[in-house]
Amino acid sequence: MLYDLIIIGAGPAGMSAGIYAARHKLKFVILTLDIGGQMNWSSEVDNYPGLPDETGISIVNKFNQHIKDYNIKINNTEVISINRAGRIFNIQTKKGVYNAKSVIIASGKKPKKLGIPGEERLLGRGVAYCATCDAPFYKNKRVVILGSGNSGLEAAILLSKYSKRVYLMDFMKRLGGEAYLKDKVVSNKKIVLLLNSNITEIFGEKFVEGIKYEKEGKIKRLYVEGVFIEAGLIAKVDFADFLKKNERGEIMICRDTKSCDENLTSVPGIFAAGDVTDVPEKQIIVAAGEGAKAALAAVDYIHRWDKTSNKSEV
Ligand SMILES: Cc1cc2nc3c(=O)[nH]c(=O)nc-3n(C[C@H](O)[C@H](O)[C@H](O)COP(=O)(O)OP(=O)(O)OC[C@H]3O[C@@H](n4cnc5c(N)ncnc54)[C@H](O)[C@@H]3O)c2cc1C
Repeated sequence: MLYDLIIIGAGPAGMSAGIYAARHKLKFVILTLDIGGQMNWSSEVDNYPGLPDETGISIVNKFNQHIKDYNIKINNTEVISINRAGRIFNIQTKKGVYNAKSVIIASGKKPKKLGIPGEERLLGRGVAYCATCDAPFYKNKRVVILGSGNSGLEAAILLSKYSKRVYLMDFMKRLGGEAYLKDKVVSNKKIVLLLNSNITEIFGEKFVEGIKYEKEGKIKRLYVEGVFIEAGLIAKVDFADFLKKNERGEIMICRDTKSCDENLTSVPGIFAAGDVTDVPEKQIIVAAGEGAKAALAAVDYIHRWDKTSNKSEV
């Protein structure tokens, strides 16, 4: 079967692209590892117009219901590679190959790893990358959060509702993140700041028992049961190495619509949207808007494709 469009990812960018593709009656499917993407990790979302005071999960449920209302097909699988045969794209997944005239990549971001001893070995045994998912497991325990950007600050506030003591560590001398989150962290008596401190190791036999860190030239130990790594995110696009990317590994997309289709990548027929792209604002509303734009650009591309195709291609 030849699809008009394959959408990779079901975060806000992919789901919004799906709704637009459905409204234009494209033959398409969304291939994704999960429904909702990073929205699932957000404890509180209060900046999506018309949907105040939502949790990440409740906003995911609303997006998902909208997808269901349009009978959009979602296949739960991982995309491994994209290849090209003439003007047709072959999208290889863990559950088989999909053929399409065009592709929208909306695969978002994944947490950055620190690459320190103990991180891999103790993953799921006290080492975590998602405070929203795992916070309840750390009731009355001691935890450390590594990284004080917005995600780290949010994680600290959330974990303080469960844990006995929350350490917030950063190698910087000051907290990062937005002012209103910093105020909440600083006024929270359960949160202890460990700034200008650099983690060197996570230790523990079967489970996390603590970390070693360096401060002012001295190696110290901190005994905790949970280590939450909030060191930032990197674009998730290893399945399309051939695309042009910026210095942060984000897919570069067309924004000068006089010379190219909106949201087009360096390969004609492949569009991209949301956090995986070089659009600097990493927000739900922006990703949703970019997904809509990419789908509309793909609609135009597919119409041109259909007009110029010969029978052997379809
Ligand atoms: C802790 C946290 C809190 C946040 N809070 C807010 C907030 O309050 N307000 C706000 O506006 N923004 C917030 N954000 C940012 C916001 O969540 C992101 O900007 C947005 O989710 C990006 O959407 P996206 O669709 O581009 O990517 P993502 O949400 O990352 O979705 C990517 C999708 O691609 C899928 N995928 C990835 N790789 C593959 C593959 N190989 N094969 C198949 N599927 C794949 C994933 O399963 C997922 O469904 C927060 C982010 C975090 C981490």
